[in-house]
Amino acid sequence: MNKIFSTPRGTTDILPEEIALWHDLEAKSRDLLSRFGYREIRTPLFEETELFARSMGQTSDIVQKQMLQLKSQNDDTDSANFALRPEGTAAIVRSYIQNDLDKKEALSKLFYAGPMFRGERPQKGRLRQFHQIGAEAIGPNSASPFLDAEVIALSVKLLTTYGLPQEQFQLKLNTLGSTQDKESFSFFLRQQLKSHLQALCPDCQNRFERNVFRILDCKNRDCKSVVARLNLDYSYLSDESRQYFTQVCEALESLHIKYEINQTLVRGLDYYTHTVFEIACPALGSQDALGAGGRYSGLVAQLGGPQVDAIGFALGIERVLLALGKKTQDDKPIDVVFVSLDESVLKHNFMLSHQVREAGFSAAMSYRLGSMKSQMRLADKLKARYVIILGQDELNKGVVTLKNMSDGQQEEIPIFDLTLLVQRLKI
Ligand code: AMP
Repeated sequence: MNKIFSTPRGTTDILPEEIALWHDLEAKSRDLLSRFGYREIRTPLFEETELFARSMGQTSDIVQKQMLQLKSQNDDTDSANFALRPEGTAAIVRSYIQNDLDKKEALSKLFYAGPMFRGERPQKGRLRQFHQIGAEAIGPNSASPFLDAEVIALSVKLLTTYGLPQEQFQLKLNTLGSTQDKESFSFFLRQQLKSHLQALCPDCQNRFERNVFRILDCKNRDCKSVVARLNLDYSYLSDESRQYFTQVCEALESLHIKYEINQTLVRGLDYYTHTVFEIACPALGSQDALGAGGRYSGLVAQLGGPQVDAIGFALGIERVLLALGKKTQDDKPIDVVFVSLDESVLKHNFMLSHQVREAGFSAAMSYRLGSMKSQMRLADKLKARYVIILGQDELNKGVVTLKNMSDGQQEEIPIFDLTLLVQRLKI
């Protein structure tokens, strides 16, 4: 028996009956993103592994455990140094630098949509290939609390535009402060945590030295209870950073966007500074993050580019679809289905269907002669607006029968009078 293949674990097919929903989300995203001034950018699906390691940080979970690296059978290629992209930001920053965008514009507003890859343990809402729609605003003019608020407002607006009511998700907000503040923050955390080290999970005991922030969002119950007792009072922030965050909050309030401050929200990646945010949908259970983002002040320079600020976010499309609770969306109705009553008319219907498509309408026919009933079933399934029936009798008379499916009205139209046919189909 031949082996039956299936999708690799943690990946899915998006079937034709599901694709209309994806198109709808993508179209709404493109429209809104362009209204906010973002232009689409497409980068390769794989990049040098080192780009991800350098941007996200060696100690991040993604770099440590989830990178899907490419292996080549040929030793003479360098493909072993490449990995499938686990997220969008690193590649966008790489492209920003490579294409000298800083010399062309003071603020680059870029968006992307496409698959991301992470070697995670698959479960509901957690895939190895998933899709994100995300945006990045990069450049010397990006260091403004108004832009933070605008980017957050944009991610919220995307979700409501998709049809997700605001009551169904929560916006969590925090600030990590500047790069210097982050140093003080990690010192502060180590001071507070060192007497509780034994109570932390083995992962967090490791994180204590390597990436102490990650202890704050560990899901382990013991770690959570240690974290709950910490006194996170923003004392580690400079006045400037505190003021910046206040301005972000005020700007959000001016747009009536509800948020909650969550001081344990740190995000897993090294590059974040100042504002970080996450949007969660509690109804989704353990994998409840619909999207997340934040400001990154040092990343562009760290990857060899100019010292410019940036902020971005990404939404996970599969999770958004789960939250919307929709699996399928009806296809668009087809304009006309050609029904053949006789073998000899197949070739005429074949030609007519092409002419109708040339004129800009959608058309379908059954390519093998079936019963009238089965062909009308096809028309119903495709939600045909019109059916054109052609048999030997019609052919002898030089007409086709055009049936309007909404009111059942029928009329005969000369078979070669395409202009008249097109006129009718337009109605
Ligand atoms: P992150 O880059 O981890 O902040 O992810 C941004 C968003 O992408 C998350 O909030 C999720 O909606 C989505 N996402 C991240 N990882 C996965 C995954 N493995 N499977 C499905 N969606 C994911």
